[in-house]
Amino acid sequence: MRQLRLNSMRFRWVAQLIGMLVMLFGAPAVAAPLSVFADHGAAIGRSTEIFQETDGRLTLAEAAAAYRAGRFAPGDSPVLNFGIGAKPVWIRFAVVNPTSTPAPMRLSIETAWLDQVDVYFQRNGQTVATVQIGDVKPYAQRPLASRFFVVPQHFDPGVSEVFMRVETPDPMVLPIYLLSPDALRVRQTQQELSYGIVYGFLLALMAYNAILYFSLRSSRYLRYSLYLAMFVAMNVAYTGHGFAWLWPESVQWQQWSNPLLMLLFGVSGLLFAIRFLDLRVYFPRVRRGVLGFCMTFGVLLGAAILAGSQKYALLVAFSFAFLFSGLMLFLGIISVRSGQKPAKYFLIAALAAMVGAMLTTLSVWGFIPHNTWTFRAVEIGMLVDATLLALALAYQMRIGQEERLRAERLAQLDPLTGLNNRRAFYDKTSPLWAHAIRHAHVSSVMLLDIDHFKQVNDAHGHAHGDDVLKALANILRHSVRQGDVLARWGGEEFIVFLPETGQHDAIALAERLRAEIADIRISHATGAIAVTASFGIAQKQDRHATLDALIAAADECLYQSKQQGRNRVTGNPDLEYAPQ
Ligand code: GH3
Ligand code: MG
Ligand code: MG
Repeated sequence: MRQLRLNSMRFRWVAQLIGMLVMLFGAPAVAAPLSVFADHGAAIGRSTEIFQETDGRLTLAEAAAAYRAGRFAPGDSPVLNFGIGAKPVWIRFAVVNPTSTPAPMRLSIETAWLDQVDVYFQRNGQTVATVQIGDVKPYAQRPLASRFFVVPQHFDPGVSEVFMRVETPDPMVLPIYLLSPDALRVRQTQQELSYGIVYGFLLALMAYNAILYFSLRSSRYLRYSLYLAMFVAMNVAYTGHGFAWLWPESVQWQQWSNPLLMLLFGVSGLLFAIRFLDLRVYFPRVRRGVLGFCMTFGVLLGAAILAGSQKYALLVAFSFAFLFSGLMLFLGIISVRSGQKPAKYFLIAALAAMVGAMLTTLSVWGFIPHNTWTFRAVEIGMLVDATLLALALAYQMRIGQEERLRAERLAQLDPLTGLNNRRAFYDKTSPLWAHAIRHAHVSSVMLLDIDHFKQVNDAHGHAHGDDVLKALANILRHSVRQGDVLARWGGEEFIVFLPETGQHDAIALAERLRAEIADIRISHATGAIAVTASFGIAQKQDRHATLDALIAAADECLYQSKQQGRNRVTGNPDLEYAPQ
């Protein structure tokens, strides 16, 4: 990449220098010949002259005659670009070999999708070599195995002329290079290395998210993987890697894969957006609109393919690609505005992808200069996009987990007092109970019930009754130990499981609590409420096979407390009131 950048920067200097010289000495009618020794690290468009066929196909002789008649125009940019569905173009340039031995060179046209390229090498008006290439022929017929169109040619000493005729319905972008075999090899190695990095990164992300889908079963990961896969497929197709590696014989697929994969890439991106941004819930009408948009372009492309018009298929695909980027951005914006947190990542990701895709689309369509950076901007945008979306998915997963934890916690809490509810009590005591049984450890249960609570409600209202419950819950919360399990057992009944605690200590705690409760005053408009509570204590014994049996024993003692006049603590009288 660095070398490429250096090359393009060097080229800019050279181009500016040439531009100044041209201005100083007056524009020559004919571009200077290209020397086989010069380092043509940049595309040679400005050293060429061009002529576009208007009525019918010209023969080489006719084209050469048109050139001699001065009907060719100088190439006006390093990379010549004639847009989508352009008329066939003739390109002519001269090559000079100042030595006395033939110079082996490579003519490389770095657009993988051109249909027909005819190259004629001439010396003194005589054709010395003709090469016909293009992706309407099977890959194996190329003179050199390359995803681009590379023609090897020995240039004899002196001046040679090259005429090229290019015909394609695809975007006619022509980055033409004249390089020594070594320079071409270096250039290609750098390019393939950079594609290796792009594909490696995206395929790893894709595989990882496919694994996440299979383990988490959330379709967003699958759609994300699909989106990346479609990008790689589209990129593999339009860069010519597909023809070179995957379908060297499938000339038909080579013609239609570009528009088709462009559409599928966009559709997969929108399907991901629909799922990721939860459009079904937040913007059901927008979702239908997006699906309608995909369907419309699908039908248009299908019609173009059925009609056999590559030109219309490409126009449909490029228009779709253009609108797709804007649509992704729009979806990101409305989702951020509706307060979806992960949508921010999506928006920045979509923005990066859009800038990249726009630059590439515009450079291929011929609206902005075509160079390595503008042509490959979509890949850089996609790397940023894919990374941010992976982060967004992780962030979304974290939010989901936190919400689930919160919901679980809430499901365990009594909303009025914030204490454990009955379910949480069982969840938390069951391991403690199992432990106590296994190791024959002592443990106790304390039940307490507010005395005449109905009267509190009747006298002061339900709201004040609630205040009493909350005040009581606070006292309990601050009095029990870390390892104890405290819960609201029912209306005005509370329970404490006391591991490693015998009846003696449990009764001591209950007595302390009883006194504290009797002391509290809950103020209200016309005075203060005082309450008392009755306690029942049970210590685990052999006859308590289950926790419920122990709780029933404590309930029995609580009943005794009520019977004996309330505001008191009752334990099992058969047990010694001695420390364990
Ligand atoms: P005892 O001393 O025999 O326990 O008499 P009591 O009035 O406390 O017992 P009873 O079971 O007859 O009445 C319990 C009352 O507690 C009745 C019910 O309205 C009230 N209660 C239950 N849950 C709540 C609550 O969440 N808030 C309020 N304010 N009152 C509640
Ligand atoms: Mg009561
Ligand atoms: Mg009660």
